[in-house]
Parts: sequence; structure tokens; C-alpha cells
Amino acid sequence: MIKLSPKREAFCQAMLKTNNQTEAYRKVYDCKNSKPKTVHEMACGLMKDPKVSARLAELRGRVVERAEINAAELVKQIAEIATADPNELTQHRRVNCRYCNGIDHQYQWRHKGEFAKAVDDWEIARDAHEDRMKKATKKTEFKRPCPTDDGGYGYRASADLDPGCPVCEGEGVADLFLADTRKLSPAGKRLFAGVKQTKNGIEIMMHSQDAARRMLGENFGIFKTVVDNNMNHKGAVQTIATEVKDPIEAAKLYQKMMG
Ligand SMILES: [Zn+2]
Repeated sequence: MIKLSPKREAFCQAMLKTNNQTEAYRKVYDCKNSKPKTVHEMACGLMKDPKVSARLAELRGRVVERAEINAAELVKQIAEIATADPNELTQHRRVNCRYCNGIDHQYQWRHKGEFAKAVDDWEIARDAHEDRMKKATKKTEFKRPCPTDDGGYGYRASADLDPGCPVCEGEGVADLFLADTRKLSPAGKRLFAGVKQTKNGIEIMMHSQDAARRMLGENFGIFKTVVDNNMNHKGAVQTIATEVKDPIEAAKLYQKMMG
């Protein structure tokens, strides 16, 4: 690193920002009583100093280097969004129904507590029915059968469905899966754009993969823009179409970028 006096260093830093030698000079030195011509001459003099110009070249090199690193990092982030698997964040899946894996295809409970609660609910409903019947003129029977645990326990939504299930006929039931977003892969985290609480439930938001792919394509010149000037009675109409370049060339560029 080239060492300069504090004022000269400040001048170089100001030059980086303004890219205008008189303006940079005025920022650092007191020019209240100086004529513009003098300020200009002084600034030119400073710029001619080999140590000042060497320091400026050094600083500008660093700016370029930083910009290159930032650009490379940005392209990497866009590539992560473009290639992430959205299934990592949310899945619509068909999972086993309660009868798929139950003993003899009977209703399968998650655990004993779930079954006990179902029996309690059934008893409450039956008692309420009996209370109503005490005052009713037309008596009816309580028809709902008491739940049994014949199908056994251990239902898990993630278990495979049974293609021979007589209840769902091997179609299973629809299940919506929302991932624990703390545990996503780096690409998955990049794709994730937060959650929103809506009146219909939780919405997982994602960055646009289409936009990311377009940006990548443009960055690597995979798409070229073809401008075609057509004339019609209303005047010149410009149509712009996007064409894909040689796919092998594009793939090579992409591989190079992904390292
Ligand atoms: Zn089933």
C-alpha cells in the first residue's frame, strides 16, 4: 500500500467518489480564498504527483476487484434461485389414507390418545342424543357406531399408500407439506422469500425462478435479441424475439459459472 500524507490520501479517496479533480481538491483543502483557476492548477499538480497517481490506481484496482467479487456472488445467488427445487419448500402429495395400512383395512389411529378422544366424543354425542330423546315425542335411535381400534395404531401421514386399499382405491388422500424453513439447503434458502399469514392459512413465498433463469440467460448471452423491423400501413412496427443460442455453447457457459 502506498503511504501518503492524510490530506493527499483524502484527496485520492475523494477522487474515487467524484472522479473530478477540482471537486475532490475542494473537498479536502480550504479553497475559500482561492480563485477557481488556482484550485484547478493545484488539483492538476496533485494529480501529476507519481505517488498520488499510483495510489489512485491502487484504489481503483480494489474497486474493480470488489465489483467483480460482488458480481460473481450475485450471479451465484441468482443461479441458486434458478436451480433450487421448489419441492424442498412445499409439496402437494398423495399420502396413505386411514384405511391403507390399518389392520384388515380398518381405520388406523395415530395413537391411543387419539382413539380415547374419539370414544369420549362419541359418548358425549350419544348422551346429548339421549337427553334430547327424553323430551322428544318421536323417539329415534342413536345410530353412530362406537369407534373401535380394530385397525390398530401408528398412522403416519408420510407413510406409503397401499395401492390395494379398498377405501381410497390406492389414490391416497391429498396432503400439503410445508417445510421447516430453518433446515433448507443453501439453494432452498435462497428461493425462500418468507411466509405470509392469510385468511386461508399460511402461504410460503418464493422468489421467481423464471426471472432468475432469464437473468442468468441474459448474463451469459445465452439469449440473443433479434430485432426485426416490419413495415405496415401504420408505420414501423418493431418486433423483438428472443432466440436461444447454440445450446452446447450455453451449457458450457453455465458449467463454467457453476464451477
Ligand atoms: Zn387408502
